[in-house]
Amino acid sequence: MAIKKLPPERLKYFEELIRSELMESMAYIENVTKEQSVGARESSGDLSSYAYHQADQGSDTNLMEHTAMMLESEREKIRLLNDAMRRIQDGTFGICEMCGELISDQRLEILPYATLCIDCKEKMEDKKRRQRR
Ligand SMILES: [Zn+2]
Repeated sequence: MAIKKLPPERLKYFEELIRSELMESMAYIENVTKEQSVGARESSGDLSSYAYHQADQGSDTNLMEHTAMMLESEREKIRLLNDAMRRIQDGTFGICEMCGELISDQRLEILPYATLCIDCKEKMEDKKRRQRR
C-alpha cells in the first residue's frame, strides 16, 4: 500500500497559511499584553469599558479573567499551529492520525492544524459524549 501524502505544492500552500495564522495569533497576544500594561481601562465605548463601569472590583476581575482565557486559547492555537508546522516539515501533514487517510482540503482550510479527518473526529466526539453520560 502506498503511503499517502499531500502533494508538495499543497504542503507549500498550507505552510503559508499556517505561518500567517501564527503571525496573527502572535500579534494578537502582543496587542493584548501591551494594552494591559498601558491600562485597558481607557478603551472607550465597548463592552470592556461597560464592564469596568460596573465599578466594583468583581467585574474588573472578571474582565481580566476573560482576557486571560482569550490569551490562553490563543497560546493553545499557537502550540497547535507549531505542531502542524512540524508535520509539514516531516511530510505527515494532512494525514489523519487515526485512520491514515488524507484529511479533506476544505477541512484543512478552516482548521490547518487538524490532526483527524472529519469521520474520525466525529467518532471521537461521539465517544466523549458517551463517556460523559
Ligand atoms: Zn480518520
